[in-house]
Amino acid sequence: MTSPFDLQQVVSCVSGYDPNALRVDAALAVIQGSVQPVQAIERLAVRAALGRVLAQDIISPIDVPAHDNSAMDGYALRGADLAAQGDTVLRIAGRGLAGHAFGGDVPAGSALRIMTGAVMPAGCDTVAPQEFCRVEGDTVILPPGVVRAGDNRRLRGEDLARGKAALPAGKVLRPADLGLMASLGMAEVSVRRKLRVAFFSSGDELRSVGQPLDPGCVYDSNRYTLWGMLERLGCEVIDLGVVADSPHAVEAALRTATECADVVITSGGVSVGEADYLRSTLATLGDVVFWRIAMRPGRPLAFGQLRAGENNAHSAWLFGLPGNPVAVMVTFYAFVRPALLHCMGASPQPQPMLRAVSAQTLRKKSGRTEYQRGLLTALPDGRWQVSAIGNQGSGVLSSMSQAHGLIVLHHEQTTVQAGDLVDVLLFEGLV
Ligand code: AMP
Ligand code: MG
Repeated sequence: MTSPFDLQQVVSCVSGYDPNALRVDAALAVIQGSVQPVQAIERLAVRAALGRVLAQDIISPIDVPAHDNSAMDGYALRGADLAAQGDTVLRIAGRGLAGHAFGGDVPAGSALRIMTGAVMPAGCDTVAPQEFCRVEGDTVILPPGVVRAGDNRRLRGEDLARGKAALPAGKVLRPADLGLMASLGMAEVSVRRKLRVAFFSSGDELRSVGQPLDPGCVYDSNRYTLWGMLERLGCEVIDLGVVADSPHAVEAALRTATECADVVITSGGVSVGEADYLRSTLATLGDVVFWRIAMRPGRPLAFGQLRAGENNAHSAWLFGLPGNPVAVMVTFYAFVRPALLHCMGASPQPQPMLRAVSAQTLRKKSGRTEYQRGLLTALPDGRWQVSAIGNQGSGVLSSMSQAHGLIVLHHEQTTVQAGDLVDVLLFEGLV
């Protein structure tokens, strides 16, 4: 079966394409130009849809709020009744509470005692906050200059207007969106199905947690960082374990992964190490390119499409990440995360970066993108300062754990002096 996807054609469109010194942005452009969103949709209860990707635009079926209502506790009145000079004196016609509208009339020259959220009576367009009002018997007295006509009133449909788009397809649903859907009276929502992502680690030196650590071996940490990053994105995660450095084991793992997942992620074995069979096996199972990215950490990267199963009916996008634990995380954030979001059907979002003052000189040559683990501190003048953590080795996971984010030194950028502003990609987000 021939694939309609042709990676060579995609890379031929990249100007100055050099697989041995590929710019980060060029690699990302090839990846984003290749991967396709999953199409299947499922209906979920609103709460179960948190973090999922909205499959269709949501058009508001009602006005929210459904009626003009008061934004304050106070007195509803007609703006036209406000005295041009001196106090405004109005007769109190009754009382309106949230959920219990006043049934009578509020004629000109009178006001309604009203609570926040209560329906505005016909004819009234203004609410005087109670802290400005003085009540004497059945009149309310308002000093001059404390309200203008139209103040403290929420208009019908000002939040969401009936028939207008309330949420766009492609939105990753956040807590505010769940509340917004509830405010429309929705109990269920259509979202894209979860993306299935399978991964395994490759290397004879790797031991899994629970096994004894034989001489010369390391525990496999990549399957834990990868699991965490994928869970955070809301993927269905399939952990295929550690795969030995043997052609048969690697091929079997790749076939299994391709049959069960939309995306396959491997770590280790994509550089040119002698016992790394992953590279050669990948080349036989699909349309895969092997890059050396102009970045640090994380130079080697494989990307492509694998096919497996009867008649090669199954296909999956492949990301072959480097083995070093920090390189895995940095390449994931630089390439895999945006690609997975695209596959999930999410609309592209800007990735905000913090501009922070560099605490030290950061040596850097133009011609590659560097990601340094950084610690932030607040300066007395309100700006943020960032300092690069001492050990930036690509295997040093402890500095990744301590870091608040990654200092991004862009492709063309050269040495940064202490006091210069740099971009910092933050790990923590509010929602
Ligand atoms: P490789 O890319 O296979 O040459 O691996 C590069 C380095 O990363 C070697 O020191 C490996 O031992 C290490 N490494 C590879 N995979 C893992 C893993 N899953 N967990 C921890 N370290 C790893
Ligand atoms: Mg290896």
